[in-house]
Amino acid sequence: MTTETALRTRYEALLAETLPRVRARIAGAEAAAGRPEGSVRLVAVTKGHPVEAAQAALAAGLTDLGENRVEALETKVPLLGRDGVTWHMIGHLQRRKAARALEVADLIHSVDTLRLGERLSRLAGERGRTVPVLAQVNVAREATKSGFDPDAAVDEVAALSRLPGVDVRGLMTMAPLVDDEAVLSATFAGLRRLLERLREGGAPVGPELSMGMTHDLEIAVREGSTMVRVGTALFGPRPE
Ligand SMILES: *Cc1c(COP(=O)(O)O)cnc(C)c1O
Repeated sequence: MTTETALRTRYEALLAETLPRVRARIAGAEAAAGRPEGSVRLVAVTKGHPVEAAQAALAAGLTDLGENRVEALETKVPLLGRDGVTWHMIGHLQRRKAARALEVADLIHSVDTLRLGERLSRLAGERGRTVPVLAQVNVAREATKSGFDPDAAVDEVAALSRLPGVDVRGLMTMAPLVDDEAVLSATFAGLRRLLERLREGGAPVGPELSMGMTHDLEIAVREGSTMVRVGTALFGPRPE
């Protein structure tokens, strides 16, 4: 067996165990919140893992794959194609890489400044297309995380949503890496309320809330997440 085949077999065996557990966690959280089953999309985050992990994910029936670097998408997308896959760019995007992201990502979760949005708008216009994005908000105001400041987010995301060629489908956040449920709930509820205010104010922003990862997805689903981004619980710890 080649190394590649062995790797893929290993990821398939892993997913046979982990995917049912992750799906059960999501379904349990949907039920507990009184939300319909299937209302939360599972984005499988293969960042840090080789292309075999993504292949195994597709073979297991996953359709949404997430990466945090443009380079990783540029490696995996040509190998796996775009049929039946939605590719999510979830990591910080530098403006100078915006054109490259446009080529490989189906949804950019991490538009974190108006300037990046303006760049994407211009590039979309040049290509005669529309870029689907989410606006990332740094709800918990962590110095280590990017995102719109929550105080400015209503105005700035409204401006983002009015740029030509930029289709803001909703909002994204990352919660602090803590176990305190109150902090996590407050962060996710804060994002949901920002989205409500934007939409009530008439901004053309879609209903998506990308929030929840391996350690906090139940709380995110309870607070209205429509998309959870899960890596570790599916693929194990990331190889260094
Ligand atoms: C790595 C990453 C995830 C997945 O995190 P896990 O804890 O491994 O589930 C989700 N979202 C973003 C933005 C990430 O960078």
